[in-house]
Amino acid sequence: MTAITLINGDGIGPEICDSVVKIIEASGLKIDWDVQTAGADVIEDEGTPLPPRVLESIKVNKVALKAPVTTPIGRDFRSVNVQLRRALDLYANVRPCKNLPNIKTKFKNVDLVVIRENTEDLYAGHEHKIDENTAETIKVITRKASDRICRYAFDYATRYKRKEVCVATKANICKLSDGLFLECFRNVAKEFPKINTREILVDNLCMQLVQDPTVFDVLVMPNMYGDIVSDLTAGLIGGLGVAQGANLGLYGAVFEPVHGSAPDLKGKNKANPSALLLSAIEMLRYIKEDKYADKIEKALFKTFEAGEFTEDLGGKLSTTEFTDAVIAKLK
Ligand code: ATP
Repeated sequence: MTAITLINGDGIGPEICDSVVKIIEASGLKIDWDVQTAGADVIEDEGTPLPPRVLESIKVNKVALKAPVTTPIGRDFRSVNVQLRRALDLYANVRPCKNLPNIKTKFKNVDLVVIRENTEDLYAGHEHKIDENTAETIKVITRKASDRICRYAFDYATRYKRKEVCVATKANICKLSDGLFLECFRNVAKEFPKINTREILVDNLCMQLVQDPTVFDVLVMPNMYGDIVSDLTAGLIGGLGVAQGANLGLYGAVFEPVHGSAPDLKGKNKANPSALLLSAIEMLRYIKEDKYADKIEKALFKTFEAGEFTEDLGGKLSTTEFTDAVIAKLK
């Protein structure tokens, strides 16, 4: 039986985890879930929101499914998500964005993927107060990280038969940092002459994405722009309830939805588990359980086609009713 780390998170995390575990179980696939708690709830007992046992578990299993984890604001803890990505060197954050069956959106034929650098930029943790009225956060861009994420994007485009990789920066303003990212992109691109390239400023990208997202294919960008742009692209296909993601590195992979812990919905049985389920489906493909991934995806799409939705997508189903609806389609 394959062992997979399951971080059930907080906020809506435990509810959507229950749903996804049930659906996978109902598909007939047996997984040995190594459940690891993290976040605000474990601080009192373990003194940190990300205890070493969580990292150890992922290092052993190499694969994790992760629900959102909130890092308490105003206390001296670094973001659990950022720490996890850095500690395991999960340098590529891959967020596909494709229309889903029967989910009404402004644009049809959206099929793009945001590839976000996941280890540096404004998330490197170099932040300080100069005085009471001035604070600084340092944007770190290195050749090593920029080169490998651009290479990842071109490799991804090659593997999935994509035609174009577009780089988004603000190299006109951050001339040195984003300039270096752009330079790396241009160098790597030379090794992939069959893939078309495009360079765009990230503000212009946002405008174009809401005017006509169908012209974009693979997008690669530094960490912060990737964070913002992937929420925007989630909105193009129905919102955060259906936006999947994965954090990939040489030594492991953590699959997680784009959304956060949505504390406004906690405990209300209203959260949409689809984003975590779609992330889990990609995880099953990653561990070569394609048969089960296809089976679950088919059931999820049939549920959408039947117009059975949670409230975020205009439906009436609770999390548990939606889960049962997907399970019914597996049979
Ligand atoms: P973070 O900064 O961690 O990304 P956030 O505060 O930006 O988190 P999210 O938790 O991602 O926000 O969610 C924003 C809003 O989107 C939530 O308050 C919720 O209303 C909605 N939302 C997010 N995820 C879901 C979901 N799975 N199902 C339904 N609604 C959701």
